[in-house]
Amino acid sequence: MRLLLVEDNERLAGLVVEAFGRENFVVDPVGSLDDATAAQAVAKFDAIILDLGLPDGDGLSFLRHLRQSVSAVPVLILTARERLEDRLAGLNAGADDYLTKPFAMAELIARVRALLRRPPLLLSNRYVCGNLGMDETTQEVDVGGIRVDLPRRERAVLRLLLRQPGRLVPRSSIDNAVFGFDSEVGANALEVYVHRLRKRLQQAGADVTIRTEKGMGYTLVKPDA
Ligand code: CA
Repeated sequence: MRLLLVEDNERLAGLVVEAFGRENFVVDPVGSLDDATAAQAVAKFDAIILDLGLPDGDGLSFLRHLRQSVSAVPVLILTARERLEDRLAGLNAGADDYLTKPFAMAELIARVRALLRRPPLLLSNRYVCGNLGMDETTQEVDVGGIRVDLPRRERAVLRLLLRQPGRLVPRSSIDNAVFGFDSEVGANALEVYVHRLRKRLQQAGADVTIRTEKGMGYTLVKPDA
């Protein structure tokens, strides 16, 4: 089992590495968010122990990016912040557990073991195409892990396309879902929204394209297609 420890207190990091080493874990300690991001990009960890107060930023932002990139690696926040609001913020950002300092090493080890026994998170409520993603539950859209704000109708169009990338979505079904059956919209209203959506996605750096299938509808095309 390999763990990533993000902790800028070197003495504490040393103690954690030693204690987990005795339990046959391999722990890679890093002291900043930059180093954590670099480590996460090249190695596969079974769990992450994350401090929040780090020299180059807040551990929560690292955690949010991690979750937006569809990583389900278990994360335990280890921090001196002990207020309820802090705990909730940590859990809402996608942490699986939260332990406050000072702590007993045996408890940290027990909690990490418990996380590793859990079945992996189901991330099936997320649609992904290229670097574009959408959470079906929250309807949040992101490009490369960075959140993109879209107006309601553009988001509704995108949702239909993202549900079945590479397949033609008939314009009648988009019309119905986006404008409703009874609303009075011009014949080219959908074109206008698709045009705006394309522009916004392009500005956000999305690597997908929306292809017009003349007279029929639209297809979301992956970058490599
Ligand atoms: Ca710290």
